[in-house]
Amino acid sequence: RRKYNKEQAIEGDFRCPIVCVLGHVDTGKTKCLDNLRRTNVQDGEAGGITQHIGATNMPLDCIEKRTSFVKKVAFGDKLDIQIPGLLIIDTPGHESFSNLRSRGSSLCDVAILVVDIMHGLENQTRESIKLLKKKRCPFVVALNKIDRIYEWKSSPHQDVRKTIDNQKEGTKNQFKKLYDNVYTQMAVEELNIKLFWELTTEEAGEWIPIVPTSAITGDGMGNLIAQVIDSAQNIVGKKITYNPGVKCTVMEVKAIEGLGKSIDAILVNGCLQNGDQMVLAGQQGPFATHIRQIYTPPANKDLRVKNAWVKHDRVKGATGVKVVGRGDDIEKSLAGMPMYIARKDDEVEYFKGELEEEIGDALDAIRTSSEGVYVQASTLGSLEALLEFLRTEKVKYSNINIGPVNKRDIMKASTMLEHDEKYGVVLAFDVPVTRDAQELAESFKPPIKIFTANIIYHLTDMFEKHLKDQKKRRQEELKEIAIFPAKMSIMPDCIFAKRDPIVVGVKIDDGQLRVGAPICVPNKENMCIGAVSSIESSGKPVDSAKKGEEVCIKIENTTGDAAKMIGRHFEKTDGLVTRISRDGIDALKEWFRDDMTKQDWKLCIELKKTFKIL
Ligand code: GDP
Repeated sequence: RRKYNKEQAIEGDFRCPIVCVLGHVDTGKTKCLDNLRRTNVQDGEAGGITQHIGATNMPLDCIEKRTSFVKKVAFGDKLDIQIPGLLIIDTPGHESFSNLRSRGSSLCDVAILVVDIMHGLENQTRESIKLLKKKRCPFVVALNKIDRIYEWKSSPHQDVRKTIDNQKEGTKNQFKKLYDNVYTQMAVEELNIKLFWELTTEEAGEWIPIVPTSAITGDGMGNLIAQVIDSAQNIVGKKITYNPGVKCTVMEVKAIEGLGKSIDAILVNGCLQNGDQMVLAGQQGPFATHIRQIYTPPANKDLRVKNAWVKHDRVKGATGVKVVGRGDDIEKSLAGMPMYIARKDDEVEYFKGELEEEIGDALDAIRTSSEGVYVQASTLGSLEALLEFLRTEKVKYSNINIGPVNKRDIMKASTMLEHDEKYGVVLAFDVPVTRDAQELAESFKPPIKIFTANIIYHLTDMFEKHLKDQKKRRQEELKEIAIFPAKMSIMPDCIFAKRDPIVVGVKIDDGQLRVGAPICVPNKENMCIGAVSSIESSGKPVDSAKKGEEVCIKIENTTGDAAKMIGRHFEKTDGLVTRISRDGIDALKEWFRDDMTKQDWKLCIELKKTFKIL
C-alpha cells in the first residue's frame, strides 16, 4: 500500500480511522484526550463530565511529529503511516459508543481502553470490554498513570519501552508486578494482552497490545498514537478504506450564533458537498433538505471552539463536520441517526424508508417494563446512556421518547398514575418541555412530575428525592391506617388509671407499638378499649416502643362505646394487642416496609388469625 498523499489521495486509500476512548471513571480518559488534542475541556463542562459530542482531527503532520521517536509497534517493525490522520471522538465513555452508530453498528474503528495501572481492572473496564467484544471493535489498552510508580523518571519524548528500561530496578519491578496483575485480570476476561513491543505481526487481531502511558507527563502517548494507527491499518484495514458511499451520523443539533441552525455530524466515509440533498431522521419522521454550507473546525481543535469554523465546498470522510441547511428544517433532525445523501431523485424515498425502519428498530431494541417512569432524551445515544444508568440504579421505565416533551408524552406518562403513583414521572434529559405539556402535567392529581437535567445522575438524584418525599407524604397520610402489630402485657403495680384515659405501664412482648394504635383485648373477644394517645419511656414522651421495652402508655377511649375499665371489663392479666386491619397491612407493605422487621411480619400473621383477617 502506498503512503497517503494529500494532493493525490485516491479512492481506495485509507480514510482517517475513528478513535474512541473508554474505561472506568477516573482512569484518565479525559486527560488522555486532552493530551491527544493538547487542549483542556475538563473544566467548563456540565458537572465536569463531557456530555456533548464533538470530534478532533489529528492531521498527518501532527501524527508524524508525535510518533517520530517510536521505535517499534506491535504488528510491524516500525510505524508506516498510511492514514491521512485520526479522528478522535471527544466524549469519553460508553455514550460515544451508542451514539456513534450507523445501521446498528458502531462507527468506532479502534478504541483506546484506559486502565489505571494502580487499580487494575474495574467494573466499567469490564463493561467496556464486553461492549468492545460485542461490537467487534479492536482496541489498544493504555495502562495509564505509570508516573505514579515509585521514583518514576519521566521522558515523554522517547520510546516508552526505553523509558521503562532506564528506570531504577525497584521501579521496573513495581511496574512488572502491576502489569502482571492486569495481565491476569485480563486473562479472566478471556483476553490475551501483551506489551506492544512483545507482539509480532502474526498476533495481530488476536492479541491486544498494551501501551504504558501517563496522560499527565506524556510518557508513552506517542507510542499510544502509533499503536492505534498500527491496529487500525493492520486489523481493520478494509473498513477504513475510503469509498464514495456517504456514511454519516448526526451527533448534535444546535443553533450557532452567526451560522443559524446547524448539525454536527461525523462523516465516516464518502464526501459531502454544498447543495447535496440530505435525508434525515426527524422527530416527526424522515425528511429531506439541502446542505447550504459545510464547515469544519480547524485542525486539532475541538468542534465546539467558537467562531473558528472553516468553510468548505466539499469534505471527505472521516471528519467531524458542521452542516447548515437551506432552511431551518435541519433543527428537526434526531441526533444519533444517520444522514443519507440522495444524489438521484428516487433515492429520497428509499432513504426515508431506511430511516423509518432504523428509528423503529432503535426504539424496539429498548425493552421497557409495564410500569416505571417515562424517559425522554434529546438523542438516541443519550437515551441509551440514560437507560443504562437507570438500569444500574434499578429505576424502572415504562416508556421512552426522543425530542421535546409534548402533551402526548404527558398523556402517556399519566397512565402510570393508576398503576403506581410513584411512576407518574417524566425524566427529561437535555430536552425542552413545552408549555402545554407543563400545564397538562400540573392538571393531574397528583401532578405528573417532570424532572429536567442535562447531567444524567442529577435526574436519578431527583427521582430518588421524589420517591423519598412521596414516601414521607404517604406515610403521613396513612399514619392512622398503617397500624403496626404489637403485643403487650400490663405490668403488675403499674396501673396508674383504670378508666378513660387508662394509664398503665406495659411491657412490649412482641412487635412495635406506635402512638395512635387502637388496642384490643383478645381474651375478651377482641374487645376494643381505645387508642394509644401517648407513650412515655423513662419519663420522656416517645413515638414508639419496640419489643422488650417497658413503657407507660395512655389509652383514650375512641371507640364510641362506653369507656372500659380494668378489673371490670377486662383483667390486668389480660394481654393487649394492637388492632390491625387489611388496609393497614397493605399500607405497611407499600410504604413502611423499611420500618418492619421479619419478627413484625410474623406477628402480623399471628394477629391476622386473631382478627380473622383474610
Ligand atoms: P476520567 O474520569 O477517566 O476522564 O479521568 P480524568 O482524566 O478526569 O482523570 C482522573 C484523575 O486522574 C484526575 O485527577 C487526573 O489528573 C488524574 N490522572 C489522569 N491521568 C493521569 C496520569 O497519567 N497520571 C497521574 N498521576 N494522574 C492522572
